[in-house]
Formats: sequence, structure tokens, C-alpha cells
Amino acid sequence: TPLTGANEPTTPLTGNAELTASFTELYGQAPEGIWAAPGRVNLIGEYTDFNDGFVMPLALPHTARAAVARRTDGELRLHSTDVPGGVVQLRIDELAPHQGHGWAAYPAGVVWALREAGHPVTGADIQLTSTVPTGAGLSSSAALEVVTALALNDLFGLGLSAPELAVLGRRAENDFVGVPCGVMDQMASACCTEGHALHLDTRDLTRRQIPFDLASGGLRLLVVDTQVKHALGDGAYAERRAGCEAGAAALGVRTLREVPYEGLGAALDTLATADVDESVVRYVRHVVSDNQRVEQVIALLDAGDVRSAGPVLVAGHVSLRDDLRVSCPELDLVVSAACEAGALGARMTGGGFGGSAIVLVEEERADTVSEAVLKAFASAGHTTPRIFPAVPSAGARRLV
Ligand code: ADP
Ligand code: MG
Repeated sequence: TPLTGANEPTTPLTGNAELTASFTELYGQAPEGIWAAPGRVNLIGEYTDFNDGFVMPLALPHTARAAVARRTDGELRLHSTDVPGGVVQLRIDELAPHQGHGWAAYPAGVVWALREAGHPVTGADIQLTSTVPTGAGLSSSAALEVVTALALNDLFGLGLSAPELAVLGRRAENDFVGVPCGVMDQMASACCTEGHALHLDTRDLTRRQIPFDLASGGLRLLVVDTQVKHALGDGAYAERRAGCEAGAAALGVRTLREVPYEGLGAALDTLATADVDESVVRYVRHVVSDNQRVEQVIALLDAGDVRSAGPVLVAGHVSLRDDLRVSCPELDLVVSAACEAGALGARMTGGGFGGSAIVLVEEERADTVSEAVLKAFASAGHTTPRIFPAVPSAGARRLV
């Protein structure tokens, strides 16, 4: 099936030979290698990663690629084929958080984070090109960070593991760019494997590859990129985060991960009489129940019963919509239209307020369901969404 979610119009660099040629023309020498890191969708476990909880992402076939050559003169030169404007040139010893730099802050932040951790990175020429849609909740930013970190790790012989690179990428995004994300996106991009979903415990980064073979079971997972991004999102994320921290404090635990699902009722009783906002009660209910939904989905996948995960996805969506309140009309419409047309389940994925939803569907119903979603969007006067299959793909790797 052709992927209709890629950045085709702005990404002419289809192959590694083209990227090598483009790099050589730009920087006057050939790259030392080419690396790739994917975007991701999260199957279940949302807004849990900053609560030390569980998530379950899978890597997409959409990737960011980086052609890279080392420099020894302290210069960092960055170029993306996907954004207008020329090469961004920075001095690595002058890199500091929150300086701006637009898109270039993501790869520059990785260089900064590596050097902050004491790694001997002496400069680089980097050209990036990506097929991960940006701002669609599919982690184009983490793909840029992880591909940069992996390339520099290999070229400078730093010997860092994939999770260590993910943690550095997150540090770049949190502390250099200034986006308060959890560690799921970078871990997914760095550590996912083909044909699997990644069960990740964000408390200690322990993880398990869960076989997720959709095709042989006659199933498909669709990504529906609504192509909308409501401005509400940025402030809402910080507010949810603060609310979860307030909930943990009121319950006397370090993070909401420490509230077991069996203890949810008692926790909600405690919060009802505590001095916390009504919203905190809802946030706690979402986080504790979504951790439980991750466990439910894993049990179903382990038992080879992917179909039964459908209703769990829907329950996750309802919780995000009603308790966390991070959905929006477009995401709700994907879920309702898909389920009415016979999907097994669907939910928003990622931070919400736009971005993408996932739909689990029998292969033979995939077209009917896609058409029903498109039709519902047209009737509601929404932007036409992009729909493509989520094929569980490889994590970050060297290509050339
Ligand atoms: P998401 O990670 O969900 O796609 P973010 O807002 O976290 O959305 O990250 C998107 C940002 O990442 C873009 O605005 C841009 O700054 C940067 N980015 C992503 N892909 C590219 C690319 N191919 N070239 C340059 N910058 C990119
Ligand atoms: Mg991002």
C-alpha cells in the first residue's frame, strides 16, 4: 500500500544516493555515512510517560535520515531539505539553551546534550531529510534528535546504547529546545524493532518487544492524521502535567505510577476530600486506568488476540476525551466514524488537540472505514485527513 502520509512534495531526496549527492554539493565533501530514525505511533498508554508509567509505541516506516561528516574545528553546520532557508552554522562551544535557531535547535540540542554529558564531539556537517509528517503527533522531532544522536555516536565512537541516546535526545528537547515532553518518543524511535510494539516502563526504561503481526492476522492499523493542530495544546500539556503532580502529592506518592489500578477507588475517595481541583481527580483516573489498559493490551497481544484490543483502545479514547480532556472534535469524529463503519477500535494518539488517531480494523474493511472517515470529515467541513497504514517498522539504524 502506498504511504500517503509522507512529505513527498517537499522531500525530493528519495534515496541514499540522492542524499549523498546533495550533501556533497552542499558541503564540498562526501558524507561519512547515512543514518535513519523513525517516527512513531503510540498504541496505548497516553500521558503516562511523565508519570513513570507504561507506554506501547511502534515505529513507523516514515523516517528522518541524516547524512553526516565529522569536523574538528568546532563548527556545526546543519541543513534540512524539508525547510526553506540555507545552512545554519553554529559554534559548538557557544551552544546554550533557549537561543532560538528554529528547527535547527533539535539537532543542535543533541550536540549540546552530548557535550554537556562530556562526550568529545568536535563538530559536524549534517544534512537532514524526513518523511515523518511534522506536527502530526508522529514525533518528527524525536526522529531528528535520535538520528542525529546515533550518527554522532557512531562517528565519534562514543559507545552509547540506544536508550542512552534516547535520553540525550529527550534532554535536548526538554532543556535546549524547551519542550517538556516525556521520554516515550525518543525511546520509540531509538529502540523499536520491525514487527513489534515496544512495551516500555518509563520509570526505569525496562522494555519488551511485543510481537505485533497485523498482516498475518488479517488486520490493519490505520493512522489518520487530521492535519489540524489546535493552539490550546501547549498550555494544556503543562497544565495536565502539573495536575498529575498535584494528584501524586495529595496521595503521598512520588508519581502516579505508584497507584495500582486496584487502589484507584480508594485514591479517588482520598482526592474527593483533599484540597485539590476537580480536574486532578479526573487526571488521576485517566493515568491510573491507562496504565492498566497497557497491561490489558499486552495480555491480549501475548494471547494472540489482537482483535480484542479494539474496545480497550476505545476506552482509552473516552478517558482522554472525558477525563483528561485533550481530544478535539476532529479526533472524536475519527473514532466515532471509524467505529460506526465497523472498525474494531480507535483512539486519538499522542498529545491530542489535533494530530493523529489510530484505527484498528479488519483488512477487508480498511477501505470502507477510511472512506467513512473521509466522508464524515467532508460533511463536517473539516480539512481532509491523511490516512495510511501503520506498519510496525525498525528503529534507528545506520543505512550507509
Ligand atoms: P511532532 O514531533 O509531533 O512532529 P513537534 O512540534 O514536536 O511535532 O516537532 C516538529 C518540529 O520539528 C518542526 O516544527 C521542526 O522544527 C522540526 N522538524 C521536524 N522534522 C523536520 C525536518 N524534516 N526538517 C527540519 N525540521 C524538522
Ligand atoms: Mg515532537
